[in-house]
Amino acid sequence: MKPVIALVGRPNVGKSTLFNRLTRSRDAIVADYAGLTRDRHYGDGKVGEHEFIVIDTGGFEPDSSTGIVREMAKQTKQAVAEADAVVFVVDVRAGLSAQDHDIAQYLRSTDKRVILAANKAEGMRDAPQLAEFYELGMGEPHAISAAHGQGVRSLVEAALEGL
Ligand code: GDP
Ligand code: MG
Repeated sequence: MKPVIALVGRPNVGKSTLFNRLTRSRDAIVADYAGLTRDRHYGDGKVGEHEFIVIDTGGFEPDSSTGIVREMAKQTKQAVAEADAVVFVVDVRAGLSAQDHDIAQYLRSTDKRVILAANKAEGMRDAPQLAEFYELGMGEPHAISAAHGQGVRSLVEAALEGL
């Protein structure tokens, strides 16, 4: 069975753009993979010689009356449970947010391997903006540009390392 990578993060950070980059599709698709829950977006990921299944998640409703933890449970907990590795996507242009901290806290409570992807980093590879993301306690932020494809291969290699 191919390793499974779940893309997690607050809305608008670029998860679906990364999904489409990894699966070379234009639209997030709903596929039927045996043994996996079907109400999220699954795709066949391929980067170089690496093949994996990637799960896009809808993120967290910003105006949800039930709160972020509840939304996480509804939309993403299952994806995280199914994943061998989680790519936690943040937006380096928007900077660190309270929602990022909430998500980090949840992810820390799981035993999953988490790789931090600092997206929208085209042209800012060694930018000081990257440093604040160390605060999340998720290790080194991997600077990527999902839109331009930069850093995506090394991100995937880090996510799949040892799997
Ligand atoms: P999601 O809500 O996390 O799935 O985010 P989307 O993939 O829908 O992207 C949200 C917005 O960010 C869209 O306008 C994208 O075009 C933009 N975006 C995504 N990736 C990048 C990137 O690498 N660089 C820049 N500058 N914008 C991006
Ligand atoms: Mg999306």
